[in-house]
Amino acid sequence: MNFDLSDEQEALVAETRRFVKENIIPAAAEADHTSKFPTDVFNAAWEMGLVAPNIPEEYGGVGLHEFEHVLITEELAYGCTGIQTSMTANALAATPLLVAGTEEQKKEYLGRLTSEPIYAAYAITEPAAGSDAAGIQMRATQHGDDWVLTGEKCYITNGSWANWYTVFATVDPSLRHKGIMAFVVDRDTPGISVGKKEDKLGQRASDTATIAFDEVVVPKKNVIAEAGHGFKVAMKTFDRTRPDIGAGACGLMRRALDESVAFAQERKTFGVPISQHQMVAAMIAEMAIKYEATRLLVHKAAWQIDQGGRNSLVASYSKAFGADSAMEVATDAVQVFGGAGYMKDYPVEKLMRDAKILQIYEGTSQIQRIVIAKNIFAGVR
Ligand SMILES: Cc1cc2nc3c(=O)[nH]c(=O)nc-3n(C[C@H](O)[C@H](O)[C@H](O)COP(=O)(O)OP(=O)(O)OC[C@H]3O[C@@H](n4cnc5c(N)ncnc54)[C@H](O)[C@@H]3O)c2cc1C
Repeated sequence: MNFDLSDEQEALVAETRRFVKENIIPAAAEADHTSKFPTDVFNAAWEMGLVAPNIPEEYGGVGLHEFEHVLITEELAYGCTGIQTSMTANALAATPLLVAGTEEQKKEYLGRLTSEPIYAAYAITEPAAGSDAAGIQMRATQHGDDWVLTGEKCYITNGSWANWYTVFATVDPSLRHKGIMAFVVDRDTPGISVGKKEDKLGQRASDTATIAFDEVVVPKKNVIAEAGHGFKVAMKTFDRTRPDIGAGACGLMRRALDESVAFAQERKTFGVPISQHQMVAAMIAEMAIKYEATRLLVHKAAWQIDQGGRNSLVASYSKAFGADSAMEVATDAVQVFGGAGYMKDYPVEKLMRDAKILQIYEGTSQIQRIVIAKNIFAGVR
């Protein structure tokens, strides 16, 4: 057992941290305020290999393990989880292909992501089916060798800008998870239209949009998973990507902690820095505990992926505990700042707004508990 990072991993963290300090932190407040994504920052991160760094080398990627991927995500999230989410969404979109794509699909679509700084999106959620992912209504109908998709996806990260989407649709909604297929679909296919960009509480830098599919013809070669397998691909994807949400939570918590520690040592009340008041110091200690505990879960979940083992349980621990902890830590950071924390002049109110979505996307905190309980009752521990 060794909890140290290797020299290479330490160097990766240091290099990413430098990038975040120079590029993401200066851009974050403006991107949040205007809800405009800083494409120049994305392009620079892509040049450095920080976007979807888990794409294997044979498809032009950096080919890092999940363990290194979560190290990078934590650093990006320290700067801004809105900007980080947009970068991470490329890895989310790529994962169904990594899990179940054909060689041809991987070469074409992962190759696009690694040959230029473009965006991709993962689309499963629909207006009537979020937590109940097996209840999606988007229809997939076979026409000769092609499939035709009709329906609507909502709240899709990178939805407006994506060059391609991984899309889940059903041959028959009454079959629930047994009817679900997975496809990779080019954005410029006739029949696809992008609806309104959402105006959000937090993570305002990231793009979130509705996408309508009106009789969109998708060739058979773009089928990732046939009926009966698509749902499993969606769930296996989440097993691999939920630790990354936990890593985002780590970055956000570490930022909240750093900001709170600095403020608590400067701000004086009753003649002393507020860090000397036990109740403030206790809030700081709680933040540190939650950050460290989440980090251990995230590292274990990522390590399990790299070992090729089953990891649903720890992936959900890291996501649920990380997201809930990030919400608590960010709320406490605002508390440590007092009235100043409520103002946009300081970075902590943004952290509190940004943290909330961690408890919602890629399976809400309630859904994580359902996954965890199901695994435990099934004897998986
Ligand atoms: C900013 C943002 C980005 C997103 N990005 C993407 C993306 O890139 N791709 C994508 O496909 N989707 C994306 N989503 C969608 C997201 O995954 C869903 O919003 C989420 O899964 C919850 O679904 P819902 O909104 O339909 O809520 P519902 O499923 O309607 O849930 C409402 C509430 O009920 C609770 N609930 C539901 N069922 C149960 C149950 N059985 N037991 C206990 N509680 C339950 C939930 O936990 C929640 O609190 C994004 C959402 C947002 C807001």
